Amino acid sequence: MYNVSKFIARRVELMKSSEIRELLKIVGSRKVISLAGGLPDPQTFPKEELVRICSKVLMERGDSALQYSPTKGVDEFRYELINFLSSRGVKVSKDDDVMVTTGSQQALHIIALTLIDPKDYVVMELPSYLGAINAFRLSEPNFIGIPLDDDGMNTDVLEVRLRRLYAEGKKVKLVYTIPIAHNPAGVTMSLNRRKHLIELAEKYDFLIVEDDPYSSFTYEPTDTTPLKSLSSRVIYVSTLSKILSPGFRIGWIVAHNDIVKEFEKCKQSLDLHTPTFTQYLSAEALRTGIVNLVIEKAKTIYKRKKDVMLEALEDYMVPGCWWSRPVGGLFVMLKLPREDIDTSKMLFDAIEAGVAYVPGAPFYVDGSGVNSMRLNFSYPKEEQIVEGIKILSNVIKSRLQ
Ligand SMILES: *Cc1c(COP(=O)(O)O)cnc(C)c1O
Repeated sequence: MYNVSKFIARRVELMKSSEIRELLKIVGSRKVISLAGGLPDPQTFPKEELVRICSKVLMERGDSALQYSPTKGVDEFRYELINFLSSRGVKVSKDDDVMVTTGSQQALHIIALTLIDPKDYVVMELPSYLGAINAFRLSEPNFIGIPLDDDGMNTDVLEVRLRRLYAEGKKVKLVYTIPIAHNPAGVTMSLNRRKHLIELAEKYDFLIVEDDPYSSFTYEPTDTTPLKSLSSRVIYVSTLSKILSPGFRIGWIVAHNDIVKEFEKCKQSLDLHTPTFTQYLSAEALRTGIVNLVIEKAKTIYKRKKDVMLEALEDYMVPGCWWSRPVGGLFVMLKLPREDIDTSKMLFDAIEAGVAYVPGAPFYVDGSGVNSMRLNFSYPKEEQIVEGIKILSNVIKSRLQ
């Protein structure tokens, strides 16, 4: 075999396939309780309902549903989407447009390709969503990390950083945020901070990317006023992955139509369009209320599992550890009481002992977070959650000694 490496583009170095991912692959093949993934519970998948609409779509709309379709998305689906969004407080105004994407991951990729040049300043929360960090990294930005607390991104810290950057003649181009039920931090940005962020965007002339996969199913009453409804500078991204099926790969962007035009050019070069068939199915799933059914089911199942995880942490976790109390989403963030314990190194011991998690550092663009980890409660069974936390606590205990 000849040497492949000299043919590989320099860009590929930016695509971190982390050792952690490789390590977690072996988890599937062993008797390890995985709190590492981010998968929805298959119990929420509406299989029988989908059988019905699959044959309906094929019989009634087959000629279109199996055909190429517009880059921006199938009109029937975009129409249903606009109704769904408006029922969730996301108004698509006459200046806005909606583009369907192949999962929200592609939306993030398109945003990176269309808006970010190398060395542009891009603000990310500490921690932030790994999928977004990875997508943006391909455009080689300068990341700026802004800490989160219980009220979401600390916009006062952001303001100080912005002032300092502008004094040096530098400009932030965009701010990426998950305002509702943050992944991985579990927190929601307060309405005051949401308003402050919009003020800053106008004052300092930057765009905001609002990633919103979770606002349809928070576990307690939460103000979910979208940033999108507060300013035309917001590019809104969401997905059917958590409220129907991640396998569908259906996401979307809502933004000012001048921006969407540019996104459309970009998407055309990536994949022409998102699969037509799944768009027809998704339109039908929205129209007939299947998505709302999944949302109700998911909310009940995940709230219960979240409570099981929090109770297990209360009962078994080593004193001194801190963990988040998520108001939505699929994750709990856990921090160890000592900064010198690297959870990516501890992962070997944990897997040996029978539990897996995702180490925290990759979620932090500033290299912090080494003593933290992300725990998933949506996929494991309730008894696995309890058992997993017990094992994890023992692993941490022996590290702390
Ligand atoms: C799960 C999740 C997504 C979903 O990504 P898809 O590509 O649509 O499956 C996007 N953003 C965040 C923050 C998530 O947690």
